[in-house]
Amino acid sequence: MELEVLKQDKTDVGSYFVSNYPPFSAWSAAHLPEVERRLQEPASNPPPLGLYLHIPFCRKRCKFCYFRVYTDKNANDVERYLDALTREVALYADLPRLRGRQFEFVYFGGGTPSFLSEKQLNGLIERINRHWRWDAAREVTFECEPGTLKKPKLQAIRDIGVTRLSLGVEHFDDDILELNGRAHRSAEIYRAYDWVREVGFPQVNIDLIAGLVGETEERWQATVERALAFQPDSLTIYQLELPHNAVFSREAKSGQSPTVATWPQKRAWVNYAFERFLAGGYEVSSGYTLVKPSERSSFVYRDALWHGADMVGTGVASFSHVGGVHYQNLDRWEEYLAAIDAGTLPLARALPLTDRQALIRELILQLKLGRIESTYFAEKFGTDVHGTFREAWDALAAEGYARMENGTIHLTRDGLLRVDGLLPRFFESQFQNVRYT
Ligand code: SF4
Repeated sequence: MELEVLKQDKTDVGSYFVSNYPPFSAWSAAHLPEVERRLQEPASNPPPLGLYLHIPFCRKRCKFCYFRVYTDKNANDVERYLDALTREVALYADLPRLRGRQFEFVYFGGGTPSFLSEKQLNGLIERINRHWRWDAAREVTFECEPGTLKKPKLQAIRDIGVTRLSLGVEHFDDDILELNGRAHRSAEIYRAYDWVREVGFPQVNIDLIAGLVGETEERWQATVERALAFQPDSLTIYQLELPHNAVFSREAKSGQSPTVATWPQKRAWVNYAFERFLAGGYEVSSGYTLVKPSERSSFVYRDALWHGADMVGTGVASFSHVGGVHYQNLDRWEEYLAAIDAGTLPLARALPLTDRQALIRELILQLKLGRIESTYFAEKFGTDVHGTFREAWDALAAEGYARMENGTIHLTRDGLLRVDGLLPRFFESQFQNVRYT
């Protein structure tokens, strides 16, 4: 028993973070005709729509990163890619299911969107706008790496309509940034943050990671204090995991184990940050986020996705969800560009969801908010989520991870900090104990 507990506590190689359902390992090329079919069908009463633009370039590869990113592309490569991205948006704009619909949210993700120069960024937006404008978007998010920023670039990012700037700080300690392969150092964070405030964005988010290699109690506490001193509109904290294709994971598999903190230790560090920010007037918004209570702290992208919005994901390896089907783009540079050159959508694998899978997907994603509103599920799916998943709720309550209050299921703090580890309990039996990605 004790050994089993120890094993669960250790940070093993494999995915812990649950971002979608059913697991990616169940998606396949055999389902691609269903994507084509649904995109050709006009939508009646469609959900909100979002656009994700993947900018897959980084100055350096972080040792914990598992995303499809490139650190070796020159200006011509970047231009070729941005041209393909524009043409992919144009292909979508013309499809019956999407034609005439407005984006409610836009997300520039990476990689590092701020890797682009002002000229590249303005050129990209100008070309995309010829096909599909996003003037109606309630939120436009842009991810930044501090060391790529200058004040004129931040001004250009603001001028294209970005409402929410997300700064990938991860940590303030230079030794830890170095050990984990980050491209920036703390001086670049401070410099960039002054410019961010001078330019003035409606919402500024800071990302931190708990449990980076080299972390100690004192260093984490110092990082939390510095983040709090910045007074961001929101703070996002991830717990370091070791997904299969990260550098740290390869080192671990070959016996050169990096020292990664245990899950209880990481949860204790996130809890410390929660307590410090709560004392500073912030509120818990999900298992990963704290927000300053104000209208500037909304998360349109997150909330729309977790409530079943459509999202067109563009760029190499991007993920989409449209018309009840999950799908992913080709994840190799040349294959992605060749598909776009041929005038076709660059699709790789897909999975149409059953009604029950759509329900489970929203249930587990919304559980990350720390509470489940049963009336929402009754109205949308005609399902009583209390009764349908009673065994799971009872077990969570008995273990101290959940409690029921006036018809609403709440996770306790302990449950919220380990929420991703609780979600597989709601998976259908065929997806229990399968590789997630
Ligand atoms: S900056 Fe982000 S996307 Fe780029 S390598 Fe680091 S973690 Fe990965």
